[in-house]
Amino acid sequence: MRILVINCGSSSIKYQVVDSEGGEVLLGGVTERVDTLAGGHAEALAGILKEASKHEPQAVGHRVVHGGLAFSAAALIDATVEEAIRNCIPLAPLHNPANLAGIQAAREALPGLPQVAVFDTAFHARMPNRARSYAIPRELASEHGIVRYGFHGSSHACVAERAATYLGRPLSELRIVSCHLGNGASVCAIEYGTSVETSMGMTPLEGLVMGTRCGDLDPGAVLKLCGTLGVEETDSLLNRKSGLAGVSGLGNDMRDLEAKAAEGHDGARLAIKVFAHRVRKYIGAYAAVMGGVDAVILTGGIGQNSASMRQRILQRLEFLGVKIEIFANNDARPSEATQVVDISAPNASARALVVATNEELTIARETSCLATPDEPIADLAIPIAISGRHLHLDRETMDLLFGKGAELEVYREISQPGQFAAKQKVNLVGPRNRIDGVRVLGPLRPKNQIEVSRTDEYKLGVDAPIRGSGKVEGSAPIVLEGPMGTVELSEGLVCARRHIHMTPEDAEQFGVKAGDEVEVAVNGGPRDLTFGDVLVRVKSSYLLEMHIDTDEANAAELSKGAEGDLIYSPAGSGVRGCLQKHAGS
Ligand code: ADP
Repeated sequence: MRILVINCGSSSIKYQVVDSEGGEVLLGGVTERVDTLAGGHAEALAGILKEASKHEPQAVGHRVVHGGLAFSAAALIDATVEEAIRNCIPLAPLHNPANLAGIQAAREALPGLPQVAVFDTAFHARMPNRARSYAIPRELASEHGIVRYGFHGSSHACVAERAATYLGRPLSELRIVSCHLGNGASVCAIEYGTSVETSMGMTPLEGLVMGTRCGDLDPGAVLKLCGTLGVEETDSLLNRKSGLAGVSGLGNDMRDLEAKAAEGHDGARLAIKVFAHRVRKYIGAYAAVMGGVDAVILTGGIGQNSASMRQRILQRLEFLGVKIEIFANNDARPSEATQVVDISAPNASARALVVATNEELTIARETSCLATPDEPIADLAIPIAISGRHLHLDRETMDLLFGKGAELEVYREISQPGQFAAKQKVNLVGPRNRIDGVRVLGPLRPKNQIEVSRTDEYKLGVDAPIRGSGKVEGSAPIVLEGPMGTVELSEGLVCARRHIHMTPEDAEQFGVKAGDEVEVAVNGGPRDLTFGDVLVRVKSSYLLEMHIDTDEANAAELSKGAEGDLIYSPAGSGVRGCLQKHAGS
């Protein structure tokens, strides 16, 4: 599909007509200093749209900086969506009005074309509250929208997808730290396909050192500066005169700073060191957040081009499994054709990848996804099974809890073929409380996996991550008590990710594949509910069934025999925002 992508900033407008399938760019350009034109954005856009219409675009995709908490995905623009973007103006006073001007101009010049808003913030909309919340009084935070929204979503989504394709593994199996290092810069922890932490916060000022933005700064220093300089001057100082430019006393261009540093310029040297140090610090922190890391991605103008900066950032990260191969790093030049260059040493357990980002193509793909009418989804009811808390044990833990060589005894068969509830039960001991008599499911597995609900988690006093089956690395510790012994597990406690088991034939009927995330609606009961983020698992031995835990079932007031309908499945692009097509506002 031919998509006109418009990135309407406060002082410049970037545009492209791009083929969303092949990525071929038919037209592209930038109009600078829009704010100095007599006719402002409208005048500049009129010229761009005239030129673009010669390429007969079929839809228009707009980059919109701030979607607040209203948007967890891209959205087809209508009056309600436009109003919601307007409501986010206080959060992005320079950007959102410019984005709206672009939307209005495109609607007038190209009436009848679908227009789609793709938000910088949407990729981060599923961040857990512990990462989203600042430690200030909650009422104030909610009144003023002071939470972490995160930005650069299209770039982080694009490079994560490209890295997963390169590695030949689904995103849902990878823990990635993505570092977008351009004029603006941010780091994002992408745990099994979801952004769980990112360094930009309520505004794009927080986090890394940027071209002219300060990034992290003690709020006490901000108060002090406000007291001395006033709010407006402080704003300008921290947004436009700080970062690389401020520390170096030169400018914001990394190429110049590297050249000056080589000549011995103190300011340039310090700016480079502070920049690299901050990125390293975030990589370590985000590896901790995810309990490990499978790949570190470097992208953006600096990430893609500066081998010396990459080396500064990635040195001495062997403890995380990250080790680069110096010559591969020196030669790495990813392009739209190569997209990914692996600079890891052969024995590194985590990959270091230099990835070419393409935000415009990501926006075009999401736009095409929303502008294309949905394929009808098979009208097949999905039986819903409600899982109580339970656990799977490995051989060693079984021996310790029940005695050497003990075998699980079948209490009753359960729905998935070959699986059974065992007669054996185990006690869970948390730091706060204990839960006795938790059923073991058989057969034994290669790894221990203890599945509890959020309610159980609070009772136990632990923090269990949401995980798909088998993904227990870096999950929560727990103590298990059996009749013959007690075992302290350093990991294994999870809150199960809701999922559907299906056969390849079912998958074909629904038009989905393993690893997709779908939405399932439960209607007709006292508490209708649509479950998002439902993972599709496919195996010929499976029986069609969605698995949820007791908290989830209670939320929809479901009982035995309940059924749900698959109401949305991805159109195959794999870009997360696109998967949440109907999750909109
Ligand atoms: P934006 O955030 O404006 O999209 P970019 O991703 O284009 O920014 O990145 C711009 C930054 O990349 C600038 O600091 C620029 O100096 C830096 N950069 C580009 N090429 C090189 C290079 N060869 N070596 C070092 N830095 C580079």
